[in-house]
Amino acid sequence: MTMLRRRLTINGIVQGVGFRPFIYSLAKDIGLVGSVYNSSDGVKVDIQGNSIQLDQFDARLRLEAPPLSTIISVQKEDIPALDDSDFTIIASHDNASVSTLISPDVALCDACKDELFDVKNRRYRYPFINCTNCGPRYTIIENIPYDRPFTSMKHFPLCEVCHGEYQDPSDRRFHAQPNACPECGPQVWLTDQKGKKIESVDPVSKTIELLVGGKILAIKGLGGFHLVVDASNSEAVAQLRLAKGRDEKPLALMVRDLATARELVQVHQKEADILLSIQSPIVLCASLAKDKIAPNIAPGNDRLGIMLPYTPLHHLLLSGELDTLVMTSANFSEEPICIDNEEALDRLSGLADYFLLHNRDIYLRSDDSVVMEMAGEIRPIRRSRGYAPRPIFMKQKGPSVLAVGGELKNVVGLSRDEKVFLSQHIGDLENLEAFEFFKMTIDHIQRIFEIEPELIVHDLHPEYLSTKWAKEQNIPLLGVQHHHAHLASCMADNNLDEPVIGIIMDGTGYGTDGTIWGGEFLVGDAAGFERKAHFEPMPLPGGEAAIKSPWRIGLSYLHQVFGNNLPDVPALKDRDIQPIIQMLEANINSPLTSSCGRLFDAVAALSGGRQEIRYEAQAAIEFMQAAQNEIGRDSTRFGFTEFNGARVIPMASIMENLVSRISDGRTQTQLSQWFHSSLVNSFSQVTDTLRDESGIDQVVLSGGVFQNRLLFEALLGMLNTQGFKVFTHKHVPTNDGGIALGQVIIGQNYLRK
Ligand code: ZN
Ligand code: ZN
Ligand code: FE
Repeated sequence: MTMLRRRLTINGIVQGVGFRPFIYSLAKDIGLVGSVYNSSDGVKVDIQGNSIQLDQFDARLRLEAPPLSTIISVQKEDIPALDDSDFTIIASHDNASVSTLISPDVALCDACKDELFDVKNRRYRYPFINCTNCGPRYTIIENIPYDRPFTSMKHFPLCEVCHGEYQDPSDRRFHAQPNACPECGPQVWLTDQKGKKIESVDPVSKTIELLVGGKILAIKGLGGFHLVVDASNSEAVAQLRLAKGRDEKPLALMVRDLATARELVQVHQKEADILLSIQSPIVLCASLAKDKIAPNIAPGNDRLGIMLPYTPLHHLLLSGELDTLVMTSANFSEEPICIDNEEALDRLSGLADYFLLHNRDIYLRSDDSVVMEMAGEIRPIRRSRGYAPRPIFMKQKGPSVLAVGGELKNVVGLSRDEKVFLSQHIGDLENLEAFEFFKMTIDHIQRIFEIEPELIVHDLHPEYLSTKWAKEQNIPLLGVQHHHAHLASCMADNNLDEPVIGIIMDGTGYGTDGTIWGGEFLVGDAAGFERKAHFEPMPLPGGEAAIKSPWRIGLSYLHQVFGNNLPDVPALKDRDIQPIIQMLEANINSPLTSSCGRLFDAVAALSGGRQEIRYEAQAAIEFMQAAQNEIGRDSTRFGFTEFNGARVIPMASIMENLVSRISDGRTQTQLSQWFHSSLVNSFSQVTDTLRDESGIDQVVLSGGVFQNRLLFEALLGMLNTQGFKVFTHKHVPTNDGGIALGQVIIGQNYLRK
């Protein structure tokens, strides 16, 4: 048969994931000659053989590709045959990785785990064991190409044995950049609070001993430090809460294995799959009996955040006496997670009793990701370690845009061609350290992906630090309305281009009229939007400060509807309401908001729920839980009135119906069921009207309020029944962690015109 030679150019996540050795073994297996190498437009494979062999290669390429790789495209061209006699891997040159992608960090693989616990293996109990299929990636990369000298492994020259593995195409560690062993690689050690080394034969066993003794440990991990305590020790948990400045917000757990998880929480199939996945996020699962863990881990919350060990060090920590640990980002309150040894000893010395340190530097911090199953799908709540910087792929190529996100749960986005790279979770920019991290991350991702943006997209809010930073850059700017970005984000999440009806239920977002929006029905696409309906704007006495005291919001909404004839609501009985009423009547510091999040706060507080909150959305979360997963049959359609060309859902309708039920002596459970079902009822009426008017039947749901499972699932069900095509978030969070994606898409659309 004639010898044919073909050149394939493969694009996608094909670097640092064992792709070239895979190509090598596949070609060898089929009996092809040729070569594989990196180039500026992807991985190139030259293969030579007969037509049957070439077809076989084609068929097996996608089927057998390594687990961490993602093939986006394969271009083929026929080239003249040569007289090669073997298949070879050609070493990469500089500049060869321009369009290859960087893998996220990956949980320990099974093969490495087996070796970790194999007494005969030379890496037995070695906390940094890894291979081409697992281990650190994004967090240790300083520059490109992704080669050892450009990672934090540069300080660890490979020993002879490791070097042999690294160079052997048939080895699982061929070109595994973080490859290491106890002879040549990073080490762990234990110190006291002051950084003084504690001598011990096995620092990991000593750490377990300290945890069993009720101590707080700061443990350096993959994307940063964790604060760790024994999850069954309520005193240690209380100490940890005190140190961290975290009163009631639930703490995440790391458990030994799936079986241990099942003792604590309900685990559905999809939840089990994602727990065991290479991303290994925290999964918010429904709690079972909590007697196995301290009661102060997730007080008043019916979900527990659970993750499985994802580094070798975690596996070692959980293989001894303890099988359930509290593992929370090591930071104070909402500050960014700590990554550096010196920084940790400095910032955490008042928080932790002991430190388990190591000497593999973390270049880019990355918090644990958080996901939750809703309506049968796993949805991201925080997309970070394990996911970033894997791009979101768009249908078409677009210009390069930098999106700086919002203020809370900040994430930045940067696009190149058809890819949108979203950063890891950066945090709340209100604090200085998060803002520094924000700037550093932008710098870093621009460098490692070699992107020079043509446009910066920012939120319309003039006071956001991200907005202020954007305005200082010497690059053209575009301000985008917050809820328009939510709408575009959900469109992009589902690859939609045609106009949609957006139901955007959110906490806070700066409106085009200078008021605070957040309960919005928008019609539009990436090119623009119209605000078609919203909740009636209500004053927020004291502005943002009111968010911490839902009872003040409840009082304000009642006062707005009933004026001086305030109805008798038990929840407000012992409150000092006069100063608030004076503030409202004099219209001092009481900005208007149509926010759905604030409406939840108001209704929750008036119904006898949380009057003061200790963490974001606590009132709404507990009020939802009060409904006990039931939507009420008692349901009110709040209706709407026309106002300035838009429809407004009147607050009188909501408050009057609520107050009459409260005076009838309804329980909080009944009130919550009624409120949820009334929102579903009212939202579907508005959406129906907008469909009649616009002819549009595609609906997107976005905004932080849709983390409310009860509302989300019931509304989704109702809209589906009514024949809408409903699209929801699956790849980026519905909260503000997802808006950078929308900002990118709106920015690209703007540049195209
Ligand atoms: Zn491995
Ligand atoms: Zn070695
Ligand atoms: Fe938002």
